[in-house]
Amino acid sequence: MSEQLRFDGRVAIVTGAGGGLGRIYALLFASRGAKVVVNDLGGSRDGSGNSSRAADQVVEEIRRAGGTAVANYDSVEDAEKVVQTAVKNFGRVDILINNAGILRDRSFIKLTDDDWDLVMRVHLRGSYKMTKACWSLFREQKFGRILMTASGSGLYGNYGQSNYSSAKMALVALSNTIAKEGEKYNIFSNVIAPIAASRLTENVFPPEIFAAMKPDFIAPLVALVCHENSEENGHIFELGAGQFYKVRYERSEGVLFKADASFLPGAIAAQWNKITDFSNPQYPSSIAETDWVTLADTAKTLTSN
Ligand code: NAD
Repeated sequence: MSEQLRFDGRVAIVTGAGGGLGRIYALLFASRGAKVVVNDLGGSRDGSGNSSRAADQVVEEIRRAGGTAVANYDSVEDAEKVVQTAVKNFGRVDILINNAGILRDRSFIKLTDDDWDLVMRVHLRGSYKMTKACWSLFREQKFGRILMTASGSGLYGNYGQSNYSSAKMALVALSNTIAKEGEKYNIFSNVIAPIAASRLTENVFPPEIFAAMKPDFIAPLVALVCHENSEENGHIFELGAGQFYKVRYERSEGVLFKADASFLPGAIAAQWNKITDFSNPQYPSSIAETDWVTLADTAKTLTSN
């Protein structure tokens, strides 16, 4: 199956593709026929500085291998310019990989407004701006594949990453909503929470583990869910070191209380074990799956718990 996964005629923008995970995605898409915009600001891992070198090197690598790519050095916050690079050179955009990222890790007590704002700007505002700049094109052509890069830090929280984890979880929310809005236009959006060796994680893993956590283990899934035949939309995948998971929400069966004066903290406390019991779970993926109107109506007719 993977042998047949081609992207001929497709144009992919990969943000932050001058190194790490983005570079591998760009190489993979290009090796399978896509024309690729290799975007990278070329700054340091904390977001300072800029350089054209990182993006240029990856474009050179792609061209040497017989692929087609152009470089773009704008920040993802200047998304229109990135998208213009694609349109000017290749006439269209089909796939957007929101991958660019930085770190400003600090414990919450030491976190500054600058640390918060810069991380939010690159990850959340950058992904929003890039997606917005592609959206009308995707709607007009009735095709688009979007990937958001979240993180286990966002899904579960992580010490020292309140800014980063907040931005990453917000990207899950953005993806979930645009997946719903885009579906009828064949615009699909999914999220990955990857873990891989890169300059962002070089001080996290022991050297022998670091060597085995190749970004190459992330790229195949990215290609698969961004392919035109993929039906995945609004989903989250957690992956790294060759392990692949799908992630979803789980909630308890819950308790419906009578909506009258008996609905007090004590009544809830009395049902706490049932409210928090996951032995008969539900897996909601939309607000509409819960019929709140019927529940409210039924609550009126119940006897007190
Ligand atoms: P990386 O530092 O190697 O790559 C990130 C790239 O983004 C860099 O080349 C950088 O120059 C570029 N960049 C930064 N700010 C930019 C901006 N404003 N505009 C354009 N480009 C910009 O790190 P990586 O590990 O490959 O990270 C890629 C993505 O994966 C990031 O979003 C990161 O948060 C996410 N992620 C990585 C891991 C991991 O284990 N490596 C885990 C979870 C999430």
